[in-house]
Amino acid sequence: MLYLHIPFCKQACSYCNFHFSTSLRNREAVLDGMVRELAVRRRELPAGSVPSIYFGGGTPSLLTGAELDRIFKAIVQNGYWGGDAGAEITLEANPDDLTDDTVAMLAASPVNRLSIGIQSFDEADLRFMHRAHDAAQALAAVEKVCAAGFDNLSIDLIYGGQTTSDATWQRSLDLATSLGVNHIASYALTVEPKTALGHWVATGAVPDTSDERFARQFAMLVDHLTDHGFEHYEISNFARPGHRSRHNSGYWTGQPYLGIGPGAHSFDGAYRRRWNVSNNARYARVWSEVTSYSDFETAGPLLFEEELLTQRDRYNEYVMTGLRRAEGVAVAEVERRFGGALGRHFVSEMVPHLRNGNLESVAGTAIYRLSRRGLTVADGVAADAFA
Ligand code: SF4
Repeated sequence: MLYLHIPFCKQACSYCNFHFSTSLRNREAVLDGMVRELAVRRRELPAGSVPSIYFGGGTPSLLTGAELDRIFKAIVQNGYWGGDAGAEITLEANPDDLTDDTVAMLAASPVNRLSIGIQSFDEADLRFMHRAHDAAQALAAVEKVCAAGFDNLSIDLIYGGQTTSDATWQRSLDLATSLGVNHIASYALTVEPKTALGHWVATGAVPDTSDERFARQFAMLVDHLTDHGFEHYEISNFARPGHRSRHNSGYWTGQPYLGIGPGAHSFDGAYRRRWNVSNNARYARVWSEVTSYSDFETAGPLLFEEELLTQRDRYNEYVMTGLRRAEGVAVAEVERRFGGALGRHFVSEMVPHLRNGNLESVAGTAIYRLSRRGLTVADGVAADAFA
């Protein structure tokens, strides 16, 4: 799988701690670096076409047609993808960027799935989150991309924020299911340090978020979407049948992926994680001097950091991501991957949660998954499973 991080945004959302810059000063040099990184790091993925390409950010919908074209040319020239129509090619887009021209450009490109950062259909929510779009643009964007023929469409929604009443949240959910959307990713508003929201909460300018509101609005989310034909296939992700995100499912099942661009993460599918420097100027400057894989490795921490996962790290990640998925975790698979001792540890830690109803076994087998009640304490159940 291939991930491309486009690290630019029009403005900073109040809650965001992703890597992005609102300065476009290094835009061309960063894209030059990404094209070079695509060429130099090809060996980190298996040969053959990738099943999924994902443009994330930042704001990939800021790319012009010529810039997107240039990146696709580098993807094809370096053998990541050869035009296979079966590949999932997703681009994250913000509603305010989806003008008629941009939608037409995207419809004519290889992108076949859009993930639109709606977050809310409510004006007060959008202003509080300092989003660049308003409620009317949110609605118009979805209608426009449907009309342009995008039938593989995901939207993001945020619940539990200080301005999001239950009535507001229900209205956003009603609108979401009335549109031609077949995938919804929804997260609670998290207060992160070093964000505007983190500062407002720390200084008492706004109250902190409330666990009761999170739990209530999460229950509304699950009820509403499952009542409207969506599968709740991961704790924060819902899809109509046949529309699960292949890219995200790949992350959760340990597939190898290569992350290109400032701040992007990579995983070799076994033991090694790497993450690129989160600094656009440095990324561009150092990549302008790298022409080979040995240059890249020599640059080391100037361009990336890495960690080697132990067997225990891998077990912990496996049970954490597995318990968040509707498929749950099979005891036999834990034993096969990590050995009998960790398999026994997993069972002994999960038995109390089977007894108290946080977990259920799938069709009476030794496959454990979170129950409806357990969804609200998922992190605690996973923490108990950790070795
Ligand atoms: S558009 Fe996305 S990446 Fe950019 S600041 Fe907002 S939430 Fe963060």
